[in-house]
Amino acid sequence: LVDFPYDKVLVLGLAKSGTAAAKTLLENGINVRVNDMKTEENDPGVVELKTMGADVIVGSHPLSVLDDMELVVKNPGISYENPIIVEAMKRDIPIITEIEIAGRLAKGSIIGITGSNGKTTTTTLTNEMLLNSGQSVKLAGNIGIVATDVAKHLRNDEKMILELSSFQLMGVQTFRPNIAILINLFEAHLDYHKTFANYVDAKSNIFKHQMENDYLVYNADDRKVTEAVKGAKSIKVPFSVKVKQEHGAWANEESIFFKDEKIMDRKDIVLVGEHNLENILSAMSAAKLSGATNEGIRNVLSTFSGVKHRLQFVENINDRLFYNDSKATNILATKKALSSFSQPVVLLAGGLDRGNGFDEMIPALQHVKAMVVFGETAEKLTYTGEKAGVETIVRASNVEDAVREAYAVSEANDIILLSPACASWDQYRTFEERGDMFIHAVHTLK
Ligand code: ADP
Repeated sequence: LVDFPYDKVLVLGLAKSGTAAAKTLLENGINVRVNDMKTEENDPGVVELKTMGADVIVGSHPLSVLDDMELVVKNPGISYENPIIVEAMKRDIPIITEIEIAGRLAKGSIIGITGSNGKTTTTTLTNEMLLNSGQSVKLAGNIGIVATDVAKHLRNDEKMILELSSFQLMGVQTFRPNIAILINLFEAHLDYHKTFANYVDAKSNIFKHQMENDYLVYNADDRKVTEAVKGAKSIKVPFSVKVKQEHGAWANEESIFFKDEKIMDRKDIVLVGEHNLENILSAMSAAKLSGATNEGIRNVLSTFSGVKHRLQFVENINDRLFYNDSKATNILATKKALSSFSQPVVLLAGGLDRGNGFDEMIPALQHVKAMVVFGETAEKLTYTGEKAGVETIVRASNVEDAVREAYAVSEANDIILLSPACASWDQYRTFEERGDMFIHAVHTLK
């Protein structure tokens, strides 16, 4: 741990990242207290931390856990309204997340990726492009791999590709990626951040501590982004899906480019969707700045069919192209998925009823030839489909049944798309489970 000025640290929240942070601090000779409401005394993680010398307080959150503490490492999910956090702020105790520790540990270089949407896709693409260019890279962060664990073992010649949420970024002090990507900024997570300005401020932490020789890849088409990056000290590398960029990545109807160099034709890119073009250009920028080869980039883009459950291409069965977009749990996401196709679409939708209607979807249903609806919202979606003039609307009992029904009403060259516009919890435990059911049902069609 480089220049770590704290000797007594409270780790609040013992999920994977908290436990990893606590261990790392203990290994570095720092006094650690851990506190978690839900974890029990005999939890193996807790036992291990105790053995390592941590002061463990579990089962309650007394304010006294802050006594003598110089720093709080907070799980990103814990609200800033949590009484301990409020009290820590009152006592002027700094509050960080595990990402700050990862940043202080990492010997190799860091590519940090954030944005309101497209983080996982961009992170995955960047990682694949560098791997395909023969580089040593390690994936970590919000993508589900604890950053501290990866940072700890990162060699000088390795790169850490780090997906970062606004919650994680809100708690950094010195974190400084060598390359930062800001994909886009929409209003999100206002329950946590309270105002859009606070949210932008948290996201901006990805570049705030960068130096003159670091790079900031950003979306030149997004006014909120261009506004936010104005004060950055690093070298700015804009990307645009609309306008030629002298200093960054861009696209026209036929091809994608980095500065003056054509990288490949768009027809050879497997990933569909205008929004994915943003992700492709931002990943490609970071990859090029890190020394990726054009061949490595092309290999990825000509084969990568999407992150699982995110407009993921599944299979071609008798010229019907099946896509799994189970992650689309709201209307906006389904609209985006629909706008990715110009061919006729058979849409599979439905799920948990949150009380909303679906009429907002009507303009996006223009090239939907059939809908197969299921779950609690089946009736509402039928109503919306009828209003939009969708020719065929079929009711199914679940996703597997919907796949069979969709195939039955489809013709060659149709897109068969699962993009439910609803959460899955009425019938499935998670959107992943729902997507897996879809994939399985598609495979068994054969
Ligand atoms: P995140 O990790 O930020 O949640 P993902 O890459 O997992 O993003 O994509 C989740 C969903 O967000 C996708 O299914 C798609 O609907 C939408 N999405 C992805 N990339 C973008 C983008 N660049 N702009 C707008 N929406 C996007």
